[in-house]
Amino acid sequence: MSWLLLGYDVESGEPDSPVTRQFIDALRRAHGEHDAPGTLFLCGQTLEHNVEAIRATMADGLFDYGQHTWSHVLFKTLWQVNDEGERIIPGGSVEEIAREVDRAQTIIRELLGMEVIGLTTPWGYYRGLGDRPELLAILHGNGIRFVRSWMRNEQDWVPVPLSRQPFRYVAQGFGDIMEFPLTGRHDCDWGNRLGFEPRAFDNVADYAQYVAGQLDVIAANDWAFVYNQHDTTTMRWDPEMVVVRRLIERARELGVRVGLYREYCEERGAAEGEV
Ligand SMILES: [Zn+2]
Repeated sequence: MSWLLLGYDVESGEPDSPVTRQFIDALRRAHGEHDAPGTLFLCGQTLEHNVEAIRATMADGLFDYGQHTWSHVLFKTLWQVNDEGERIIPGGSVEEIAREVDRAQTIIRELLGMEVIGLTTPWGYYRGLGDRPELLAILHGNGIRFVRSWMRNEQDWVPVPLSRQPFRYVAQGFGDIMEFPLTGRHDCDWGNRLGFEPRAFDNVADYAQYVAGQLDVIAANDWAFVYNQHDTTTMRWDPEMVVVRRLIERARELGVRVGLYREYCEERGAAEGEV
């Protein structure tokens, strides 16, 4: 079976900014009109500033929730090499990361009344957390059982090939944590494809068609397409969520299941148990 796994990093950092609330409205419309599930990965401080808007999504019956740390601290240092040159983006210390994960888990428990098992790392890295078992241990101790941390290629940039499919961190000693690499095109490169001059696409509908074209490859190989957008990028580039709507429509045309990360973990676990 092939899957479309839609996920959103909800992380706008400014306390008085309307961006997250505007995004939540757009998200509920897009997913509601398509009756499609999606997963929100919440920064703790963003939840604190937007608790009523985020709580309201719980009544829709379409959304699952994970965390995105308290304040968006990186787990690894990036050495990013792309058209704009080279750039170092420093990661946090192990102690800082441990505090961030625990604090986000705590506020989600307090404000939403749930224990989340999913986490998206800020920025994402080449090879995910495969070379950082001490960080996997922190996640495991906080109840995290799936993670989106492999989002970059060997240049710490995008895209990661579509063939890089979900796997478990068995060699690292955490076979009960599933990694969902973010592959292909997502909003990380929207600026130079949709926004800045010279841009590759004239309008968001053409860009949406291009992104949705990746689902043909996913369907042909029985793969999962792990997709991400941010509250901030959505409201800047695609406030009507044309890209997500086209992805959902194309998935359904192709028979690709639109599902939750949690469901994927459960179904794969069940399938492996039967072997
Ligand atoms: Zn983020």
